[in-house]
Amino acid sequence: MTNSTESQGSVTPAQESMQKSSDARGFVALDNAAFPLFEPGTVWLVGAGPGAPGLLTLLGYHALQTADIVVYDALVGKHILSWARTSAQMEYAGKRGGKLSHNQRDISDRLVELAKSGKRVLRLKGGDPFIFGRGGEECQALMAAGIRFRIVPGISAGVGGLAYAGIPVTHRQTNQSVIFLTGHDASGAIPAGVDWKAVGTASPVLVMYMAVKNLPEISEKLLDAGRERSDAVAVIANATLAEQKVVETTLGQAGEMAGRGELPTPAIVVIGPVVDLKKQLTWYNDQLRQNAIG
Ligand code: SAH
Repeated sequence: MTNSTESQGSVTPAQESMQKSSDARGFVALDNAAFPLFEPGTVWLVGAGPGAPGLLTLLGYHALQTADIVVYDALVGKHILSWARTSAQMEYAGKRGGKLSHNQRDISDRLVELAKSGKRVLRLKGGDPFIFGRGGEECQALMAAGIRFRIVPGISAGVGGLAYAGIPVTHRQTNQSVIFLTGHDASGAIPAGVDWKAVGTASPVLVMYMAVKNLPEISEKLLDAGRERSDAVAVIANATLAEQKVVETTLGQAGEMAGRGELPTPAIVVIGPVVDLKKQLTWYNDQLRQNAIG
């Protein structure tokens, strides 16, 4: 082993990336990038990603650096919010666990009002704004009021969260399809619009948002639909963050565990054979968690 290999071996990942940036132009190269103009009187709906600040997109970062006001949801972390311009106004519009601290109509009206006052309005949501984020409803309200908007997609928790748990969303040997669904409707109940019999058998892999509370009922419905009690389940809580916790169980046990309050939240529940790949593919370890960016 040469000296240089030896010294490389003792370098931590954080030191390594700092060394790299000393001879790269890095973010400086973006200062003159042709980002789209964030015009006064418009709204940008931006997905902040699943949690880790590094998973924000460049357009999302640009929007934070430019917006006059940031209207943000509960699951957007402090670290990402700290990237807003120092003079930007920060306004919380969160809801948690189905409890409406602000109703959707109020939020949409507020966005319209702020845009009409000539501000550059950043509506910042967890994950992707168009996946169980009610982004479509906000766009409808903006459209009806004649306010121009842009959507900046984000990495959804049901995709990025699985990556950080070492679980592929699709895998050639196990599933050619995946179903994303929500475990509760606007009232907090199990969604009436889901055909559980069909969903249970239509795809080997189900990725469920907001499903922990109703998991006792959901798992019964999936078992009734013909799924096996032994089907692998992973509950990925606080995905991509230092506090990430993955609980592995089976469909037969998941409901009872949820009923006993043993499952952490906010979480994504994954059901199906891809969960078994976690054994081989876990990469997000204790050392990497110490990096605040992701
Ligand atoms: N638009 C978001 C989803 C909003 S619904 C997205 O695309 O990710 C809120 C639900 O998303 C939570 O109840 C939880 O099920 C899931 N979620 C969001 N962030 C999460 C995280 N970091 N870890 C696990 N689940 C998360």
